[in-house]
Amino acid sequence: MGTVLPMLQATPVLKGKDYREILRQELDAGKIPISLGRSCPVQCEFCYELDHSYRETAEPPKTTQEDWEFILDYINRKPTDPLQFWCLGGNEYMEWTDLFLHPKAMEWVEDFLRHTDKNIQFFTVGFVHVPKIHQLAARYPGRINFELSVITLSHYRQRLMPHAPAVKHLLKVLDGPAVSSANFYSFDADTMSADAVTISRINQHCVLWMGCLTPVRGLKQDTVALMRQGRTFLPQETMRIYEAGLPNPTTIHTEAYITAFLNRKRIVSLFDSLGLEKNDTVVMAGSVHKILSMFRKNRARFLFVPNATLGGDSDCTVLLTFDDIARRLTREKVIHIPKCVMQSGRGPYMDIAGVKLEEFTKKTGVKVKVLHKIDTRLANKQLYRHGSLQHYVQDYLRNPLTQSYEALPAPA
Ligand code: SF4
Repeated sequence: MGTVLPMLQATPVLKGKDYREILRQELDAGKIPISLGRSCPVQCEFCYELDHSYRETAEPPKTTQEDWEFILDYINRKPTDPLQFWCLGGNEYMEWTDLFLHPKAMEWVEDFLRHTDKNIQFFTVGFVHVPKIHQLAARYPGRINFELSVITLSHYRQRLMPHAPAVKHLLKVLDGPAVSSANFYSFDADTMSADAVTISRINQHCVLWMGCLTPVRGLKQDTVALMRQGRTFLPQETMRIYEAGLPNPTTIHTEAYITAFLNRKRIVSLFDSLGLEKNDTVVMAGSVHKILSMFRKNRARFLFVPNATLGGDSDCTVLLTFDDIARRLTREKVIHIPKCVMQSGRGPYMDIAGVKLEEFTKKTGVKVKVLHKIDTRLANKQLYRHGSLQHYVQDYLRNPLTQSYEALPAPA
């Protein structure tokens, strides 16, 4: 099957620009744009960046010491927000990579901590230097948020991430104060639950960030099948962890429609506060559609929009694009769109692909009323509010409403 050409393409903005301009754009979005100068060599089978053609990117050359000094100076000119964590790695105009593969990364993280008064956040599959990373965490308490992408310690590791660090190294990274949160997933029986027990035995303080991986466009079919298999094991894997009573804080990233269910009260009360009429058309992804169809049927016209740009099993209103929405229009003259769709890191009133709201209205001729109350701040807060393992067990797996909710037909 051929690729469907997008109806609404973003106007290219990087063409002919100096790479420092890309660095500046990322820095303005709170990113520390170190670059490997090439695609990520780890090539994990599940990587969401395997197909990032939906957005315009240009990889700057491998970061030099001079570039680093420019970056550090730029950051130091920004005011300090004690709640902000600067993220190591650009991902709006750059491709996401594991930056600890840059030979100077550890040194520059230390520079950042020493020469700024700001906080730092980083994600890696584990290419950090032990014991250096533990020394830094001990020397700068509270300023590092280290999210370790464990993914799996099971035999699936070799299949999914053959070029990532070995389990033995990962356990050393976990053994100490450095790791704030370890993320790992369900793929089969005794995968996520066994990993939770192993990790908790070594580190009782880090957050266990668990759940299932969502397939997106560009992944191989057997990888997609493994992710979907993992979902079917999620309830039993979660129950094992629940019964083990581990001391670590936990979060569960389930399928989107389950997250929506756990936050149903807030979604419904927010919908009620919008004051919409029966004939008003409101744009939403599948998960919110499911909730509103169950609890607020026929109170407005719910326009279900699939996340066609990201593809796979994506189901998230925040990640909808104007192109996704345009493809679902029939005879609408006015539609309501949540603000979070147009609050991407690419700029105000732009979607994740870089298409502007005004480009959408010009091309489709449809008038848009922006639902300002539904912004990214709210969406992010909701996602984590009821996201603990306890919530999932007590309010979803053991909830008598779950059966009828799951039986609802998928939106057409
Ligand atoms: S290390 Fe991270 S960026 Fe690199 S391929 Fe794996 S998931 Fe993708």
